[in-house]
Parts: sequence; C-alpha cells; structure tokens
Amino acid sequence: MSATLIKGTEIREQILEEITAEVADIKEKHGVVPGLVTILVGESPASISYVTLKIQTAHRVGFKEIQDSQSVDISEDALLALIDKYNNDDSIHGILVQLPLPKHIDEKKVLNAINPDKDVDGFHPVNVGRLMIGGNEVKFPPCTPAGIQEMIVRAGVETKGAEVVVVGRSNIVGKPIANMMLQKGVGANATVTIVHTGTKDLAAHCKRADILIVAAGVPDLVKPEWIKPGACVIDVGVNRVGEKISEKTGKKIAILKGDVDFDAAKEIAGYITPVPGGVGPMTITMLMLNTLKSLKFKLGLA
Ligand code: NAD
Repeated sequence: MSATLIKGTEIREQILEEITAEVADIKEKHGVVPGLVTILVGESPASISYVTLKIQTAHRVGFKEIQDSQSVDISEDALLALIDKYNNDDSIHGILVQLPLPKHIDEKKVLNAINPDKDVDGFHPVNVGRLMIGGNEVKFPPCTPAGIQEMIVRAGVETKGAEVVVVGRSNIVGKPIANMMLQKGVGANATVTIVHTGTKDLAAHCKRADILIVAAGVPDLVKPEWIKPGACVIDVGVNRVGEKISEKTGKKIAILKGDVDFDAAKEIAGYITPVPGGVGPMTITMLMLNTLKSLKFKLGLA
C-alpha cells in the first residue's frame, strides 16, 4: 500500500486564496484590512528569514504589514513600550514577537504584555486557557497545531472516536494539539493519548493510533512497525541531518528529515505528511488566518 500524501504546500495555496478573497470582500464592505506587525529584535539570520516570510505572506493576502526591526540591545522596558504602542493601534490586529529574544529580555514578560485579543500566535496564557475551555471560547489556536488539525480535516480523515496518539508534550505543539483533538467539534472529538520521554512503551501506544501526530524532534524516531495499517501519520518534526547543494539555486541547503521513517511508513500508513512540504508550510498560513479572525472578531463577523 502507498499512503495518500497530505501536502502542506497545496493546502497552503488553497487557504491563502480563501484568505485573499475574504480580505478583499471585507475591504470592500468595511473599508479595513487586517494589520499584522512582526517585531524582530537583533539580526539572527534564521529569525530574519522567518519574519521575512511572514511579512511576504501577509503582503500577498492583502494585509497591512509592518516589520518593526529593533536593535539587539533594546531594553526590556523599551520593547514593552513598543508592544503597548501596537496594543493601542487600531489598524493592527495581530502582534507577533519573533523568538528567541536576547538574554537580557524576559520572554515571558514580553509575550504576556501582548493584548490577548491581538495575540495571533496564541501563546498568551489567556489564549492557552481559552483553548483548554474549547468551543466558542477559542480565539487564536496556536499556529502549528491549528495547521495540523486543518490538514487532517481537509484530507477527509475521520476524527470522531478516533484513537489519536501525540508524541511530544511541548507547549507549542504536543500539548495544544492533544487538547484540540479531544474537544467536542469538527476535526476533533477523538480519544487522545500523549506520549513523551517518560512513557514506558512508546511503540505499543503508537501502534494503537488511528491518527499519529509526532512532534519529538528526533529523526526517524517512529519505526514503520509502530504504525497501524491505514493510519493517518502527521510528522511535525523538522531535523537538519546534513547539507546538500540546491538544484534550483546552486547554494548549500539543509537536508531535512522528519521524526518518522517516511519511506517505509508510507507503505503502511493510509495518509502521511512529507518533510519538508508537510506541516511546515501550514504554520505561517494559520498565522494569516488568525490575523484575519482577529479583525473579524472586532467587526463582529466571527
Ligand atoms: P520540544 O523539544 O519542545 O518537545 C519535544 C517533545 O518530544 C518533548 O515533550 C519530549 O518529551 C518529546 N520527546 C523527545 N524525544 C522523545 C523520545 N525519544 N521519545 C518520546 N518522546 C520524546 O519540541 P517542539 O518544539 O514540540 O518541536 C518538535 C519538532 O517539531 C521539532 O523537530 C521542531 O523543529 C518541529 N516543529 C515544526 C514546526 C513546523 O513545522 N511548523 C513547528 C514547531 C515545531
């Protein structure tokens, strides 16, 4: 058997087109567009490339976008004042602070200073609480888990009553996706198990999974014999395992591998996400969706 590939690159294009159309419609009817600001402190090449991609995507879907770059030695107070400025700017509906921040700044304090109604990353404790309560309380599900759920739904995989096993218990992937999958509602209503470094028999749990979501950061952790035939396997892991020369650009690029032994797993699973091109492209896409939602909440459209 060869699994159906769930391609994040294709789903991204569909969702970005939907967002673009909705932004144009809101602009025509209400005269406003969603506004997203990304705050970048310092000049880490990785952070610059993430922020650039976010800003380019925001531009593509018709948002107002601001990239606010600050020097690496900005004080914590000055950064908090900057966040306050955007909290009070009516044209901004989403505020994103690119992590990591320099050591002299308390990341938690900074993230907690963002108005929860503009916290489109969904990391503020108020939004974590809203996610836990579920239903209409949820405003901004964190982007990577939201992307995972969207992929499962768009692939047409049944979640109601499904055995979902999540490998990993991080605050940005494992815990929130487990919480989302157990809520009553579309793309959820599943029976969820979280496994982690303290779990006794990882393989036994994985083998039970109708939907296996792996976010461990360990290349090839999940072996093909751990996969239930026909299961839906979502591989969140992004592991750099070497370098190669890009055929397109002729430049050196990282060789990426997921947490699942893809070549063998695809012969057993019913659905599987590739790495790269699977979950990865969904994160920024869901950031755009959250920013659009933020404006819709403000206008009473959501
Ligand atoms: P993390 O390091 O914060 O958490 C990893 C979790 O996996 C931990 O809870 C740990 O207990 C568990 N784990 C690690 N090794 C294990 C093992 N051998 N057995 C059982 N459990 C184990 O990582 P994270 O931030 O959740 O990210 C996980 C992976 O997903 C990374 O590869 C990361 O790069 C990737 N990621 C991708 C995206 C994206 O594609 N957009 C977003 C976030 C994270």
